[in-house]
Amino acid sequence: MLHENHDGKMAKHEGRMKIIKQREHKQETDYYRFYSADGNSGFSFECDKDGALTSSPSAGFFGSTTSDGDEIERVYENQKITMIITSPNGEISTHEFPFQGVRSSLRTWIEPAIGRCNHCGTRVHLHDPLDNDCEGCGANYNMSGQEVRHSMSPFNDEPYYDDY
Ligand SMILES: [Zn+2]
Repeated sequence: MLHENHDGKMAKHEGRMKIIKQREHKQETDYYRFYSADGNSGFSFECDKDGALTSSPSAGFFGSTTSDGDEIERVYENQKITMIITSPNGEISTHEFPFQGVRSSLRTWIEPAIGRCNHCGTRVHLHDPLDNDCEGCGANYNMSGQEVRHSMSPFNDEPYYDDY
């Protein structure tokens, strides 16, 4: 396969590298306990599909101070979160966020293929459609593991000549 550059020089595609691991489509469902007063905004905490928390709320969740000087304290319970706000003048207000159930969201991603460099044997992750550098020797591969030589590289102003 040959691509013609703007100046008519050719980018040369060399051999295909050995693919160690094929590219994979992955998906995973995340579950979280959702607490909200209005059903839209609120708090969510990672849990398993049965609703058991998989990590405890971070320390920053329980207490903080806003830039206005309000002190915020939050109390986590299974069925609700209570937020207690104390303003600088000592006024206290409480807000409740009832448990709305376990929600889920589907996460999908692509794990790039991994190939072995034709020249130095270094493993190269093929995540970019056109431009994946070998960290060992700087060789360049496209997503399907085809070696690409960019004659238009800004680091290579020398004219590119094919061997005859
Ligand atoms: Zn290499």
